[in-house]
Amino acid sequence: MIKDKSCESVVYSQKGNEYQIKSKYVISTNDIETLYTKMLSDHIVSQKFKQKLNDAVLYSSAVTVSIALDCPAENLGIGQELICISKEGINRNDHDSGDPLISDISILAPSVRDKSLAPEGKGLLTLYIPAYIDYKDYWGCTKDEKGNYLRGEKYNQIKTEVADILIQRVEKELSIDLKTHILFYDVSTPITYLRYTGNKNGTMMGARPGKENMQAGIAHHQTPVKNLVLGGHWSDLGGGVPICAKAAINSVTLILKKENKEKFNLLASYIDGKIGLAELNSSKLVKEYNNSWSN
Ligand SMILES: Cc1cc2nc3c(=O)[nH]c(=O)nc-3n(C[C@H](O)[C@H](O)[C@H](O)COP(=O)(O)OP(=O)(O)OC[C@H]3O[C@@H](n4cnc5c(N)ncnc54)[C@H](O)[C@@H]3O)c2cc1C
Repeated sequence: MIKDKSCESVVYSQKGNEYQIKSKYVISTNDIETLYTKMLSDHIVSQKFKQKLNDAVLYSSAVTVSIALDCPAENLGIGQELICISKEGINRNDHDSGDPLISDISILAPSVRDKSLAPEGKGLLTLYIPAYIDYKDYWGCTKDEKGNYLRGEKYNQIKTEVADILIQRVEKELSIDLKTHILFYDVSTPITYLRYTGNKNGTMMGARPGKENMQAGIAHHQTPVKNLVLGGHWSDLGGGVPICAKAAINSVTLILKKENKEKFNLLASYIDGKIGLAELNSSKLVKEYNNSWSN
């Protein structure tokens, strides 16, 4: 919500009720095109820049097969390592083409590192490949009048086919009998990632670093709306958790610069490596925190 050309609150609905959160600043981490084309009035962001966003080069999405095993992953010879299956003799670009027959597969067993993820004597395995939303005509989905993908039988059939191919490739390359140890599995596709995150085409990490995106000025924190700041992976190029952490701290320091110069200087000194963490934490400007977070 905008008042006097400045962002002043966020309105959202939950279970049929509408709520408003008032805030002098709003940091947005959701999909940038959704923010600029659907959440703000049409005239606020220029058509030219919206077109640049539309043309931006994005990271792929993914297919993830999350498998529940009837045994610890260690019994199949899989430990804490990340295993990568890469096909030989194919073009460089085909490794992340999204074709389940040739794309690189990453294999991780999260339950090896964190035993609380699976019951005793059981395990978890995730198989992952880069993937794209237009695979097999948008994963066999149709669209409703609002443009949402509708998932039906064809969608389930395609994702099961893809999962089966990946499971077979893993069995062959690792010489393990995986199928008989599967209690159940769940498949996330680009349609799933789009549905849960709202990120365009289900992209994993937003805009790629590179000449096109740099020249188009895709990365930015300050939006055309006063006090509406970008803070997630859409505010920078490169995506991923490190870029998000950088974007978060940058958005906060931008706000502190306007609101509290003293605190801004302190935080900026720490980020620039001029003072250490102990010195930052011992400052009277920093509130005490007992590190009691839990997840
Ligand atoms: C399969 C996969 C594997 C990955 N692997 C890695 C990895 O190994 N290493 C790495 O560094 N990064 C990895 N990433 C990327 C990393 O997860 C993302 O870059 C990061 O989570 C983005 O964080 P964010 O806070 O910018 O946005 P998000 O995590 O996308 O958070 C945005 C939030 O906004 C919410 N939202 C969206 N629209 C609205 C709306 N209209 N109203 C209200 N809320 C909304 C979403 O539900 C979401 O919770 C991976 C991503 C995927 C999908």
